Amino acid sequence: MNPTRQSNRRFASLVLAPAMLAIMALAPSAHAAGKPVTWEDIANSDKSTTEVLTYGIGLKAQRHSKLAKINAKNVSALVPAWSFSFGGEKQRGQEGQVLVQDGVIYISASYSRLYAVDARTGKRLWQYEHRLPDDIRPCCDVVNRGLAIYGNKVYMGTLDAGIVAINKDTGKVEWNKKWGDHKIGYTMTGAPFIIKDQKTGKMLLVHGSSGDEFGVVGWLFARDTETGDEVWARPMVEGHMGRLNGKDSVATGDPKAPSWPNDPASPTGKVEAWSHGGGAPWQTPSFDIEKNTIVVGTGNPAPWNTWKRTPAGEKPINFPSLYTSGQAYVDATTGELKGFFSHTPNDAWDFSGNNSVVLFDFKDPKTGKTIKASAHADRNGFFFVTDREKLSAGGGHPWKQTSMLAAYPFVDGITWTKGFDLKTGMPSVPDAQYPPLPKAGADKGDSIFVSPPFLGGTNWMPMSYSPDTGLFYIPANHWAMDYWAENITYKAGAAYLGQGFRIKRLFDDHVGTLRAINPQTGKIAWEHKEKFPLWAGTLTTAGGLLFTGTSDGYVKAFDAKTGKELWAFQTGSGVVSVPVTWEMDGEQYVGIQSGYGGAVPLWGGDMAELTKQVNQGGSMWVFKLPKLVAGK
Ligand code: CA
Repeated sequence: MNPTRQSNRRFASLVLAPAMLAIMALAPSAHAAGKPVTWEDIANSDKSTTEVLTYGIGLKAQRHSKLAKINAKNVSALVPAWSFSFGGEKQRGQEGQVLVQDGVIYISASYSRLYAVDARTGKRLWQYEHRLPDDIRPCCDVVNRGLAIYGNKVYMGTLDAGIVAINKDTGKVEWNKKWGDHKIGYTMTGAPFIIKDQKTGKMLLVHGSSGDEFGVVGWLFARDTETGDEVWARPMVEGHMGRLNGKDSVATGDPKAPSWPNDPASPTGKVEAWSHGGGAPWQTPSFDIEKNTIVVGTGNPAPWNTWKRTPAGEKPINFPSLYTSGQAYVDATTGELKGFFSHTPNDAWDFSGNNSVVLFDFKDPKTGKTIKASAHADRNGFFFVTDREKLSAGGGHPWKQTSMLAAYPFVDGITWTKGFDLKTGMPSVPDAQYPPLPKAGADKGDSIFVSPPFLGGTNWMPMSYSPDTGLFYIPANHWAMDYWAENITYKAGAAYLGQGFRIKRLFDDHVGTLRAINPQTGKIAWEHKEKFPLWAGTLTTAGGLLFTGTSDGYVKAFDAKTGKELWAFQTGSGVVSVPVTWEMDGEQYVGIQSGYGGAVPLWGGDMAELTKQVNQGGSMWVFKLPKLVAGK
């Protein structure tokens, strides 16, 4: 089967045909062959002011721009340069971060759509709409979080568990790979990532899978950028076999998987959950170029119900369900797991560990030494600093909690743990925070109160780090849940949770709390409260600014030092995407998507009710200073 041809043929017979005709008409002459993207461009993209070439704004995922033309003094004058509508009858959540290259913006939108737009004017150059089957199973809305770009191709994951490469100049499909069965729950919402294997010089397209809520084993893939062929694949559940060059490579961790209990009655000798164990690395990695190591967060174990992953009479903490809900360090050449830190050993609350792992230099307050470290703000409410050198050292024992340098709570009211032991790196979890099993004959167990809830102290929306202020900026939320265990048996393609829940408010006056945290002390330098949940990523700039969006429709700029709100613009729908900035013709631009959706309106209980008043949308907004002001 040629998926490209089939996709085009099917398109022609659908209601989307007019859009398709427009693409065909525009494609040949829309944009002369542009400048190809090189590895050097990507490796230095954190320093570039004119282009945005990776998710995370650079390999370290710091989301910091060197641009300072827009700054604390003049940001209040920011005005729209243009806006671009994604069109279509269906809208839903717009969670993407765009790329900017050679005067073109590449925008991904809900329902696996991709647009190339003139960055100066907002005029469409071409668009690609992936043909999606009716039976896709995204857990948390039909979002797409972003793209990768290399050579003359732009890459996008698709909701039917595929990935496509599109010619960046013409919009034509170069290749289209299906990597998983969407019918059993595999899907892809995260932005893929380009790396160069520092040992072999080979260019790799790295991406993960989604699907933990359907009990599929999570995988990280590396592909040939030219052909899309798999180079290696790494399952994230202990004991499952990896692949390298089309052959079995090594198992993940210990082949006997001691972190998952045994069940002598099972054909595999393991509990049912081990075969359906989750751990999906569904967000975008960072890349430690010196260690040739991919750093990526892994998702929750499946099912959520902890008693399916803990032998009767044992404590859950002794069966940590590796390698889920943590940060994984993967060798770029072989795809082997070199190290792992668990944020939530035996995660019973769907905290997952996916959102960004930021690489930075940590000045140890005790010794004054600079340590190559990773930072991660987890859904479980803790901000972790870990020793990246230790975690990427390898050596046959990938699970190292002793690599923890700090674990600070970044939200208030955490109940699931009393805190982390700095020596062992392990949390202290009260027994009463594990939801009890249903009594004999009952469908559900007694409800307990847990904070943060599974929607997290933060969630997928990426934080940023400013080397200028030394602070991390976390889009956080204060909320909680009623939580109870339910009976569950795995059924392919059906939700595999074994838990029920209701999201509730924690404070009367706010849900969202944008917080700046000092990684050396854990002190909150400032906070800004929002009535609605925060669901957008952040960006800091050398202009001393922090940009983000709000669920009630604003794009906002804050003073990165003080937290003072300096500018706000209403976009007409909720903003749940990730801002970027770039320079063109001597002017600085800021871009962000608008369009409300995501997990909150689907799963958010009382917060879903609260945000019902927000209208859906789908558009790209770009801002700049009026010439008179920008000209000093
Ligand atoms: Ca999950």
